[in-house]
Amino acid sequence: MVKYRTSIRQKIIVGYYAAVAVMIGMAVFTFMTLMFLEKKIVFSTVITELFDTTLEIRRFEKNFILYGQTEDYQENLRYVAKAKEIFEANIEEYENLAVTRQLYTMRDGLNTYRSLMEQFASLDKKPTPQRSAAEKAIREKGKEIITIAESISKIERERLQSLLGQAGRYLFYVIAFLSLAGVAIGQILSRIVVKPLKSLEWTMKSIADGKFSTIAMDSSDQEIVSLADAFNKMIKELEMRQRNLVQSEKLASLGTLLSGVAHELNNPLSNISTSCQILSEEMDELDPEYRRELLSQIDDQADRAKNIVRSLLEFSRTKEFKREDLSLENLVLETIRFVKGQIPPKVEIVTDIPADISIFADKQRMQQVFLNLVKNAIQAVEEEGRIEISARKTSQGKLENYESYLSEECANMLPSLGDSEAVYVKITDTGIGIPQEIIGKIFDPFFTTKDVGKGSGLGLSIVHEIIEEHGGCIGAHSEVDRGTTFLIRLPVPQKQGNVSPGKKL
Ligand code: ADP
Repeated sequence: MVKYRTSIRQKIIVGYYAAVAVMIGMAVFTFMTLMFLEKKIVFSTVITELFDTTLEIRRFEKNFILYGQTEDYQENLRYVAKAKEIFEANIEEYENLAVTRQLYTMRDGLNTYRSLMEQFASLDKKPTPQRSAAEKAIREKGKEIITIAESISKIERERLQSLLGQAGRYLFYVIAFLSLAGVAIGQILSRIVVKPLKSLEWTMKSIADGKFSTIAMDSSDQEIVSLADAFNKMIKELEMRQRNLVQSEKLASLGTLLSGVAHELNNPLSNISTSCQILSEEMDELDPEYRRELLSQIDDQADRAKNIVRSLLEFSRTKEFKREDLSLENLVLETIRFVKGQIPPKVEIVTDIPADISIFADKQRMQQVFLNLVKNAIQAVEEEGRIEISARKTSQGKLENYESYLSEECANMLPSLGDSEAVYVKITDTGIGIPQEIIGKIFDPFFTTKDVGKGSGLGLSIVHEIIEEHGGCIGAHSEVDRGTTFLIRLPVPQKQGNVSPGKKL
């Protein structure tokens, strides 16, 4: 069954519409709240108007009672009518209110008040007990109406204030919710888009450092999956091309070896040939002891030639990575022998490697390391100079004149190694040196300052890779026109107590 994959685009669109829907919902809700508040504010002005009208009713009531003017009476009745009008106009608003009951009491009170006023106006203006009683009744009713109006106005004002407070809080919650939703959407987008891209970025970084590792990305997103597929294809292609390049670098080394071997084979072969010549010309005259010596010399020289050819074959064969105990001195001497043919007469190669130092390493790869380093040193010293290869075995922190050459990467490794033993190998030349501005790049693949055909820029990157494969590290220190030192640090595995030295050539 085909696994359905969503795409990042779809996810972003869904996320976008969800965010828009939430925002529209929030906006509609806020709009409705504002409408409700507006209604409440309008109603509160109605209540204020009602309260003001009752004040006017009472003012004209007082004037009429005091001065008996007909205009005051008419004004009073007009305001009573206005108050009733306000009631009728807003009757729907009064339903379901905290003050509904008071409002209806007030309306009834206004009706009673009006009849009381009418009765009072029809009475004789002379002070009579009946007039006093009517006056008292009007005043009481008027007071009652104003008290109710006051209380209604107060209740509504408080209610409006509390509604405004609620709306403020509500707006705060909306803003907080939208901010949180924004952060959450950002996080989700980051998880579905940025995270896989970050992991791609990391893989790309390690590829840039020369470590080819394919991306195992368990993503449900189409784009990420196809991107990872494309990357993996590219990585495989790069890996294959690098392997081809390394192979061609090795073939170039083999060319170097061949000239060294040809040179080296020359000596035993000419020795054999001289011995054979003596034997064939003076076979009968020679005393048997000398004959035996010549024959044994031929045998020795043939052995020497055989060993030279064997090491060349060993080096050229593609082999699996396999570590064994090796005598460092023998390994280095054997490698130097390969390049002897390329050493100009005034270039001196000296070694200072204690015979008891052995390393646990892949022979072919370590030979490649020394070959590349020595080749570079020979090219750097040009016509005249000195190349020194020395080694020491030590526990942590006791190796003066060595550790200052360690690369930063090497030095950072040291504290975690505790007191463990290590072998340090130093390759120093008195060559042209490396300018400070490029020393950080020399281990990068394809970095070269040599002319086309002279250098591929792969030598040191291969050295770096091989040393890393062995759990070691390498650093370089150089001064222009004075020379260069490469320092290799190789860990000594614990099991390596009893070392069987390698075979001497
Ligand atoms: P290549 O030798 O093919 O150029 P390498 O990776 O071996 O590639 O070296 C990279 C660069 O480092 C060289 O081109 C050279 O500039 C510099 N280099 C390496 N070893 C030495 C050395 N012993 N002395 C001076 N420069 C060196």
